[in-house]
Amino acid sequence: MTVRTRIAPSPTGIAHLGTAYIAMRNLAIARQNGGQFVIRIEDTDRERYVEGAVDIIFEAMKWLGYPYDEAPDISGPYAPYTQSERLPIYKEYVQQLIANKKAYYCFCTKERLEQVRSAALAKKELPRYDRHCRHLTDEDIQKQLDSKAPHVIRLAVPETGVTICQDVVRGPVEFQNSGIDDQVLLKSDGYPTYHLGVVVDDHLMKITHIIRGEEWLSSSPKHVLIYEAFGWELPIFAHLPVIRNKDHSKMSKRKNDVSILSHRDRGYLPEAINNFLALMGWSHPEKKDIFSLDEFLKIFTLDRITLTAPVYDIEKLNWINGSYIRSLTDVELAERLSAGFVPSACSGELLASIVPLVKERLVTLKDFDDLASFFYLEPSAVEMTADDKEYLSVAKELLASCAWSKEGIEGSLIPAVKDHGWKNGPFFAALRLAVTGKKISPPLSESMVILGREKVLARLTLKV
Ligand code: GLU
Repeated sequence: MTVRTRIAPSPTGIAHLGTAYIAMRNLAIARQNGGQFVIRIEDTDRERYVEGAVDIIFEAMKWLGYPYDEAPDISGPYAPYTQSERLPIYKEYVQQLIANKKAYYCFCTKERLEQVRSAALAKKELPRYDRHCRHLTDEDIQKQLDSKAPHVIRLAVPETGVTICQDVVRGPVEFQNSGIDDQVLLKSDGYPTYHLGVVVDDHLMKITHIIRGEEWLSSSPKHVLIYEAFGWELPIFAHLPVIRNKDHSKMSKRKNDVSILSHRDRGYLPEAINNFLALMGWSHPEKKDIFSLDEFLKIFTLDRITLTAPVYDIEKLNWINGSYIRSLTDVELAERLSAGFVPSACSGELLASIVPLVKERLVTLKDFDDLASFFYLEPSAVEMTADDKEYLSVAKELLASCAWSKEGIEGSLIPAVKDHGWKNGPFFAALRLAVTGKKISPPLSESMVILGREKVLARLTLKV
């Protein structure tokens, strides 16, 4: 058996961090077994479809560095990989179920379904379809079809018994059939529902492991029933805990920034995002905090998954990101920064000289501009005290003639501070503020060397 895994994102607007978290686990299981990792686009919910969302999903997968074997953009032996291009397939397969009486036509109108729903709610019962059309005669059905009555096709769920989802991380999960609605499989517009599409495609695409978020666990009995209705072999299921906020509430795209690409735009490195997501609901067997995607793909196992909800902890992500930034060479860091984080006022040459000074202080690439803008923009005016002005006039005189190097500057300023009976702290604080416009900055003497004598003196002149 060739192991085949997949993600099946719906193009509803953003590429979600949760999709990446699930994708890397699917990728790992496929890779470890010499199998394939497939991306299928589930775009059958036309109301939620967002133009351009598919491109965003692929842009995110590429940015994170997940190689995939089959997908709409590269095709493969089971193409097409986009559900809206597979409509005849679902129609054909659902007919098999109709023929075997595992599914049935339902001609109920919206109004009737609404009445059934309100009646159930009034009785404080779970609203569900009352199976009105399940027992129509063949004649009735033919008549309705001949008159082109709008209809859906529903699964004939067994009325009693239990359906078990054998989940490799949770063990067997039991569902009472009496609690499962007669699912719509094919909608009146000819599109399959998620349940039909996912099962038909996972079967036809020979997916062996369905590794997805636990939000789909409640759908799993419906899927098991559809596999059984077709007489198909069940895949292996693994429903993983979903990423939550620190207060354990669910992350949602309305309340949280869950977009992969917005993390890119906020200056996170793909290596850091992968490392951060790797540690969600799973731990490195040697308890390592920092490790590469390659390493994860080799050592991830489903049996080390913990079911306690993983938490999106921004401090941890920041720490991981900073640590990856510091592991880059200066040249690599300059390259990463150049991809959108350096304003045009900062030349490549200037960037190369600033990078070593800011590297220790960057949490994200986006911090660069805030830390370094004084190198390429004039700092805004700051208030100076009378003491500050005295410090600055002494500094200015010394800086006009000292050797222009870190040693030259410090060798000239430090003894002078002492000679005046001043303290280094307030003296250098005033100098830093005058030169950089900030109370905190990269190391001052090195920064002044890069800025150049002329600019430094001009900034001091303005303040004195
Ligand atoms: N289309 C579903 C989604 O948007 C796929 C769920 C599954 O993996 O079965 O996530």
